[in-house]
Amino acid sequence: MRKPLVMGNWKLNGTKQTVKELIGAFAEAANKAGDKIEVAICSPAVFIPLVEGAAAGSKLQYGSEDCDIHTQGAYTGENSPTQFKEFGCKYAIVGHSERRGYHKESNEYVAQKFKSAQDNGLIPVLCIGESESEFEQKKTMDICKAELKAVIDLCGIAAFEKAVIAYEPIWAIGTGKTATPEIAQDVHHQIREYLKSFDAAVADKVQILYGGSCNAKTAPELFGQPDIDGGLIGGASLKVADFTSIIETAAKL
Ligand code: PEP
Repeated sequence: MRKPLVMGNWKLNGTKQTVKELIGAFAEAANKAGDKIEVAICSPAVFIPLVEGAAAGSKLQYGSEDCDIHTQGAYTGENSPTQFKEFGCKYAIVGHSERRGYHKESNEYVAQKFKSAQDNGLIPVLCIGESESEFEQKKTMDICKAELKAVIDLCGIAAFEKAVIAYEPIWAIGTGKTATPEIAQDVHHQIREYLKSFDAAVADKVQILYGGSCNAKTAPELFGQPDIDGGLIGGASLKVADFTSIIETAAKL
């Protein structure tokens, strides 16, 4: 039985005041939800020490939105997985479509980030998903498989025993165009089937989150699908009422 995971991704948003207001409220909601689900927030790196303080003693976990492939050295502007670990991070998002797109991160480079995060004690949250034109050309699974295969080639299928996958159709991210529960379930199922072709036990165990304009309204039906194990939430994780409601939805599963 897979535990639902609700994870927020703040992207390049927030202030010190946001951290105070939101983390306090989310920590309370996570405590209320108890051990039935996991709740986490991935914030800009600069806020992580503040998140660490605000989440201390609660069930709320936290992580980074990205991490470098190196642990230290002359890599100006980067943050390493060991640094995130030192500040109590549990998770590191890797391969978000905004990084793949704006920063031209290849599948192979994302796989190196996945490995670096995992080798240094973080749980990588591997984002995969197709663009709108790829969706229209019915290339969704070709894209997802290639993004997964790069990680399998570098790290092996067993690496997904301690990792999370987030299926995020790019056409749904920040657009308000949530994938229908049928579309999302179908892709999640196919992702699991693909992983099964390497190792059935790993495929059965890995949490696959849905991301892309998931909100308080759409979460109940999405999370009700058999292969959807929670959500990676962007915009709605910056609103107390919305994210709290999504946490409550997952806790009822
Ligand atoms: C995301 O960026 O991971 C995301 C899912 O964003 P949004 O919920 O705003 O579409």
